Amino acid sequence: MPSTRRARAVLRFALPLTLIAGAVSGCTASAQGSGADDRPVVLTTFTVLADVAQNVAGEHLRVESITKAGAEIHGYEPTPRDIARASEADLILDNGLNLESWFEQFVQSVDVPHVVVSEGVEVLDITGDAYAGKPNPHAWMSPVNVQMYVDNMVDAFSDLDPEHADAFEANGAAYKAELQEVQDELVAGLSALPENERALVTCEGAFSYLARDAGLTERYIWPVNAEQQATPQQITSAIEFVRADDVPAVFCESTVSDKPMQQVVEATGAAFGGTLYVDSLSEADGPVPTYLDLIRYDSTTIIDALTGGDA
Ligand SMILES: [Zn+2]
Repeated sequence: MPSTRRARAVLRFALPLTLIAGAVSGCTASAQGSGADDRPVVLTTFTVLADVAQNVAGEHLRVESITKAGAEIHGYEPTPRDIARASEADLILDNGLNLESWFEQFVQSVDVPHVVVSEGVEVLDITGDAYAGKPNPHAWMSPVNVQMYVDNMVDAFSDLDPEHADAFEANGAAYKAELQEVQDELVAGLSALPENERALVTCEGAFSYLARDAGLTERYIWPVNAEQQATPQQITSAIEFVRADDVPAVFCESTVSDKPMQQVVEATGAAFGGTLYVDSLSEADGPVPTYLDLIRYDSTTIIDALTGGDA
């Protein structure tokens, strides 16, 4: 039950206070628990959330991601080790909007509170295929939405660790200013594209929020990464759109195979514009180790590829 967890969290914070009263350093005393680092543990479902959460948490919480960099996150199958890690966590953050199809079952097997960080964002529905009418889960592809994620994290972390509520508030405000900056860059860059080049064709329908923000028309081969993707009809439909609109370049995301999009490239003569990052950050030495890098990298890749066709 959450109350039990809360009680445990309170206990952890109460401990150093007792020791301070006894004129003993809190550091030495914590060794009796799970090692030197006894900060509360926040577990997120994927790397993008972990990075955003780390910006809000600062040094006060230990933030980790269940799925690793590069993982496919929609149909992920948690391992027994994931469940063991989760049961040790103090708080779990998930995106919600049906992103993590594995999540409901996952949290049922652990006794840890969880918070849905997309709560309150303006949701866009998927328009095509079997998913029509369901929410598009990729709300983080709008930095404006991520400002809402940050507010939800500030609240959740302040409940978890009230002693550092002011720090979470300040970190959140500073990070929201960075999000606004990257959003302004994105909109300015993409809206400078000529009208006839504002078509974003990708493998997964993950760019609805970004396309809305930047005034792009979005097309994709399949709506959400799942088992049934890239049917012949879906590929044909993408080919027809690229031909009809004379789209100069098409893209695919880092967590799936770009083979179906290469078929579109071969059939239409459009350029392959590059790999875009959505569902996962890269490793630290890759092109998008943070969420802010991810948005900047994607918008630069899109602009370069779409305008490159004209040069
Ligand atoms: Zn996705």
